[in-house]
Amino acid sequence: MKLLEVAVIPGDGIGKEVVPAALEVLNAAADVHGGISFRFDSFPWSCDYYEQHGKMMPEDGLQTLQNFEAVFLGAVGDPARVPDHVSLWGLLIKIRREFQQVINIRPAKYFRGLSSPLLRPNDFDLLVVRENSEGEYSEIGGRLHKGDDEIAIQNAVFTRKGTERAMRYAFDLARKRRGHLTSATKSNGIVYSMPFWDEVFKDVHKDYPDVQTTSTHIDALAAFFVTKPQVFDVVVASNLFGDILTDIGAAIMGGIGIAPAANINLNGKYPSMFEPVHGSAPDIYGLGIANPIGQIWTAKMMLDHFGYLELGQHLLDVVESVTYDGIKTKDIGGSATTREVTSEIIRRLQK
Ligand code: ATP
Ligand code: MG
Repeated sequence: MKLLEVAVIPGDGIGKEVVPAALEVLNAAADVHGGISFRFDSFPWSCDYYEQHGKMMPEDGLQTLQNFEAVFLGAVGDPARVPDHVSLWGLLIKIRREFQQVINIRPAKYFRGLSSPLLRPNDFDLLVVRENSEGEYSEIGGRLHKGDDEIAIQNAVFTRKGTERAMRYAFDLARKRRGHLTSATKSNGIVYSMPFWDEVFKDVHKDYPDVQTTSTHIDALAAFFVTKPQVFDVVVASNLFGDILTDIGAAIMGGIGIAPAANINLNGKYPSMFEPVHGSAPDIYGLGIANPIGQIWTAKMMLDHFGYLELGQHLLDVVESVTYDGIKTKDIGGSATTREVTSEIIRRLQK
């Protein structure tokens, strides 16, 4: 029996509702598998914790988390009580940075039973690999005054190491999927960093001759996500381009409440972190109607990360069948509660 030790941070708002639901589902999935079991250690770090202790997590919080194989997080933030820059930087962004989670991955697929806003949703199933540590979101820049004008300068920073590791990760994933990788570029307009990005992409491709590639400018790519998402398998993008593409990905699926994400550490020194795309949704917290699918799909990504790909696929198929049969929460057009959706998923999983 393989024991998987996971640090759990439900966080704020509906995180406290959907995380317990996803843990129940994970335990049920482990039973179905038969060869694995989970140990979940839960930490109450959140805006509640901040109000009691004046910080989002204890001083040695990161050291505590470091002993686990993964961090499973709900949502952080409650702007009515704690400003977002305090709550996010004090917990979420701190973990991402300190644990060198340099890659963010987000899948988007046509989900049976969901109404996608696309006119012809077809059967798309794509995965965006976003470089998560550098690029356009750098802290290098500043302001100048020239004559009577004011100038803001923001430097984008692309290192060969950072670019290459994101691309290798994406090529590896493409190889395990349908063997196609698209690179999001803009070398016709951004004349230093993007030609470099293209060059590294070509270099890394030499190690993956079996993977087919396309380079597409980000503007056209964003449009293709809407007009023909089915042509994409894996897409690799810089920090800013990836940020934008992943939001389009969540939108074309038809609901932020189902979208999952993973922050991946590549050097093996620290755990990776799994957290859904949605936030703490204070507007519906406490009503028992939060959609648990984003958190449950995030749990599936954690199973994938641990190497249990078949089990993860089975879990996602079950979730999709439950949605298809109309057992869904209000945000995606149903009337079921968090509890009802979760129980039905577990019931079908055990069949
Ligand atoms: P953050 O800044 O943390 O991303 P946000 O306010 O931008 O927070 P969310 O908290 O994700 O975004 O909420 C956006 C809207 O989507 C809200 O109206 C919320 O109720 C709804 N929503 C988000 N997640 C879910 C979910 N899992 N189930 C149901 N509704 C959800
Ligand atoms: Mg938001």
